[in-house]
Amino acid sequence: MIKRDYYEVLGVAKGSSEENIRKAFRKKALEFHPDRNKHPNAENQFKEVNEAYQVLIDPKLREKYDRFGHEGLKQDQGFARDFEGFDIFGGLGDVFDSFFGDFSGHSRRTVRRGADIRQSVTLEFDEAYKGAEKEVELQRTEKCELCKGSGGKPGSTPVTCSTCKGNGQVQRAQKGLFGQFIQVVACSSCKGEGSLIQNPCNQCKGGGLERRQSRIVVRIPAGIESGMQVRVTGEGHSAPKRGGSGDLYIDVKVKPHKVFRREGVDLFLDLNLNFVEVTLGTKVDIPTMTGTQSLKIPPGTQPGTVFRNKGKGMPSLRNLKNGDILIQVNLKIPTSLRSEQKRALEELAETMNWKNGEVE
Ligand SMILES: [Zn+2]
Ligand SMILES: [Zn+2]
Repeated sequence: MIKRDYYEVLGVAKGSSEENIRKAFRKKALEFHPDRNKHPNAENQFKEVNEAYQVLIDPKLREKYDRFGHEGLKQDQGFARDFEGFDIFGGLGDVFDSFFGDFSGHSRRTVRRGADIRQSVTLEFDEAYKGAEKEVELQRTEKCELCKGSGGKPGSTPVTCSTCKGNGQVQRAQKGLFGQFIQVVACSSCKGEGSLIQNPCNQCKGGGLERRQSRIVVRIPAGIESGMQVRVTGEGHSAPKRGGSGDLYIDVKVKPHKVFRREGVDLFLDLNLNFVEVTLGTKVDIPTMTGTQSLKIPPGTQPGTVFRNKGKGMPSLRNLKNGDILIQVNLKIPTSLRSEQKRALEELAETMNWKNGEVE
């Protein structure tokens, strides 16, 4: 049989990036997958695609192939490698396991895990300060209520699979790129479960799963920041049978505060004062996250001065300490003055003997 050019098989250009090769392979593999494509030639084409991919994705093999063509790969007898990253196949997982599962020959019994769920939650700034419990509504796959996920009619017991004798996997001779090798694959009769359901549950038709709308309460820790993620273990989609659940990831958004600007655990506040207040000194009420606090501005405070209200900032997620509130003094200058006010300032300048920007 004449071998086709590997690049042609995958439908990529010769200099294609690894990523493009991977993409092309996934597309072709799905197209010719014998489970989806019933054409008698599909399996052969699938194998051809698989072989092309194995070579082109391996930099050493690809280089040899580029230089010497199919001839160049002749010495690579017994080449075998594990395949990674087939997560995208999701539902086809069982079948893909049997194709790519275990080229090295040791057993790998996979118990499938449900998919993760991502959801976003928006918090008021105050909730980020105190921590919050938020209710989230999820559309997710859960274990069937009636059969508790077993897939069997309540009261019935599953029988041991005769194909794999309950092991969930079988050995299969597979013709590979360079000869035959033995592969341990998930049993196709029982889909790796080791047992078969004879009386399927009426509610889930034996799948053990059903789609449900659920509300769960998620604890958001105090100190959380916009852009952070909270992971809730086991609250994702359920997997069939004995498989565990995926996780729930909450993307957190925090609304900005009216007056504070947050940087890490510290809060920044602009405090506007007028010329007389900074010159003579004053007392002002400044906001905190729990109320207000009085701050003494000493006479002669310069604009730009920063006062620190220690421990009144945001709680840290790492330790139990809080950050600070940093209050920066802004000098506000009047923009319109009545004539007697102007005169008063001119008199002041005169008594101070201010000239050319001098102050004292
Ligand atoms: Zn059921
Ligand atoms: Zn079986």
